[in-house]
Amino acid sequence: MAGLTGSVLTSFANTNSNENNLRKSSPDPTPYTQRPLPYSYSALEPAIDAMTMEIHYTKHAAAYAKNLSEAVDAEKVDTTKISLEDLLASISKYSVKMRNNAGGHYNHSLFWELMNSPGKSAVPSSPLLTAIQRDFGSVDAMKTKFNDAAKGRFGSGWAWVIVKKDNKLDIVSTPNQDNPLMDLSDAKGQPLFGIDVWEHAYYLKYQNKRPDYITAWWSVLNWDYINTRFGKIS
Ligand code: MN
Repeated sequence: MAGLTGSVLTSFANTNSNENNLRKSSPDPTPYTQRPLPYSYSALEPAIDAMTMEIHYTKHAAAYAKNLSEAVDAEKVDTTKISLEDLLASISKYSVKMRNNAGGHYNHSLFWELMNSPGKSAVPSSPLLTAIQRDFGSVDAMKTKFNDAAKGRFGSGWAWVIVKKDNKLDIVSTPNQDNPLMDLSDAKGQPLFGIDVWEHAYYLKYQNKRPDYITAWWSVLNWDYINTRFGKIS
């Protein structure tokens, strides 16, 4: 892994001014590089086991970042001028490799941030709770609808809670590494939080039992992060 990590870092050596790359309107700016995991591989136990986390972060997510770096080089994307969010918003202009890996990198960068050790998670903030009750009826109703979307995603993909243009919350699912920021996505909005339901996210511990993984995942949701994110994008 040292080699892969090294090559990723080297290929991004010229993107040392990420702060300047990000438009002020960018809700949660994500640089094009793979950031350090904000906790240890074992931090999400028992919901998500350490080996799954290590392989997920160092193999799968690292590969999306590496392949994204190749795609932005090949397709001459000036990463000092276009934010990753803006790239996703015009992803139909780029290759399938760009679509899969820009999505994969963005989705995983967000995924790591919105989890935390069980017991460390807070609860939805008052503004977020108000929005959840307005748009879903209750937190439990939101969870049920979200779980259904995650369980029902055929094959690989993600389920999301999004903030739509009219500021309402909605629940959607996207295939593969697509996300609701993409111009070619059927479901469009700002992702508030989402779950990775690719088998690589749960198979070692849960095998075919995706619903058990989804249930356990709620215990590691980092509501402090989500509350802050909601304040930025709503
Ligand atoms: Mn994944």
